[in-house]
Amino acid sequence: MTTEQPQPSFRFVENTDPVSDARRREILADPGFGDHATDYVAAIRWSGRSPEEGTWTDPRIEPRAPLPLDPASAVFHYGQEVFEGLKAYRHADGSVWLFRPEANAARLNRSAERLALPALPPELFLASLDELVRRDHRWIPDGEGTSLYLRPFMIATEPFLGVRPSREVLYEVIASPAGNYFGTPEPVDIWLSTTWARTHAGGTGFAKCGGNYAASLLPQLEGEAQGCKQVIFTDRNREDAVEELGGMNVFFVTRDGKLVTPELTGTILPGITRDSVIHLAQDHGIEVEERTVTLGEWREGVASGQIAEIFACGTAAVIAPMGRLLSERGEIPAPAQTNGEITTWLRDQLVGIQHGTVEDPYGWMHRVL
Ligand SMILES: *Cc1c(COP(=O)(O)O)cnc(C)c1O
Repeated sequence: MTTEQPQPSFRFVENTDPVSDARRREILADPGFGDHATDYVAAIRWSGRSPEEGTWTDPRIEPRAPLPLDPASAVFHYGQEVFEGLKAYRHADGSVWLFRPEANAARLNRSAERLALPALPPELFLASLDELVRRDHRWIPDGEGTSLYLRPFMIATEPFLGVRPSREVLYEVIASPAGNYFGTPEPVDIWLSTTWARTHAGGTGFAKCGGNYAASLLPQLEGEAQGCKQVIFTDRNREDAVEELGGMNVFFVTRDGKLVTPELTGTILPGITRDSVIHLAQDHGIEVEERTVTLGEWREGVASGQIAEIFACGTAAVIAPMGRLLSERGEIPAPAQTNGEITTWLRDQLVGIQHGTVEDPYGWMHRVL
């Protein structure tokens, strides 16, 4: 956590027209999620002959502004893009912290490799977050359960219509204040699309890339038409093995207090929240099984009471209880408990560590300010 490496130096370009104090205060009073831009971005350019051979240059913090990009930029045509998502939390003493940013650095590079994008040295990734959060510190809300959401991303910027990996890449971090996720959330009903998949074996499921989200939007619309806020994806070639939601991993809690979550097969995004839930549970004597869970097991488990709680997890909503599963083939009712004991305990632990009210024995928190 306390490495004494010299920080890569970021050039600073001041924003001479920042959002006014009054307007910022108004936004921070009710930030929502992803609706508002801060004053700055972190940016680094890359150029090279192949994803393995190139250089990152000119790291800088500069005013948030539209990007000037040629319409032939590869990202617009072939979707060569990856991203990350994490939050900066202001603790009661005013200090500011990130949650497991090294894990985001590692995942960004696994995603980048799959999309034939260059790896970003983890120390540059961490420095880009630190530097941006320091410059945008006025944008970190201090209300209960609030945070500054950080969105690092990498795009192929070379103007070239041939099909090969881009020789020019832009990495940026943008930020947006995020509202309260505390309290007891309402269980969400989930839509199962029997027509569409978000990914498939050998695809990009394990990579955090825009393409997976593009593929999930149509089924999400289907779900919304049925009153469902979230969509779940299953593998039809493996007896409808449960994979995950459009942007969250899934856990089942059994009647005897065990956690069961789909194993990472390559079609599931390895969530950092998922990994943290597994650690927390195991350290407190809760058994965790990573294995296949079919739709059939879900249906029978809820009917028999063997499945007591079901929740989804991810950085944005942390831990969200799941209710009914709806599909064209019928419905699986909500489990017996929707904000059950284990769901609630895990949420309290995780949110507590992130916001500094529960001790962090893992060194998960990284101090920025
Ligand atoms: C980002 C993401 C998650 C959750 O990952 P966290 O690291 O926990 O935020 C789960 N599924 C998908 C598809 C995602 O893109």
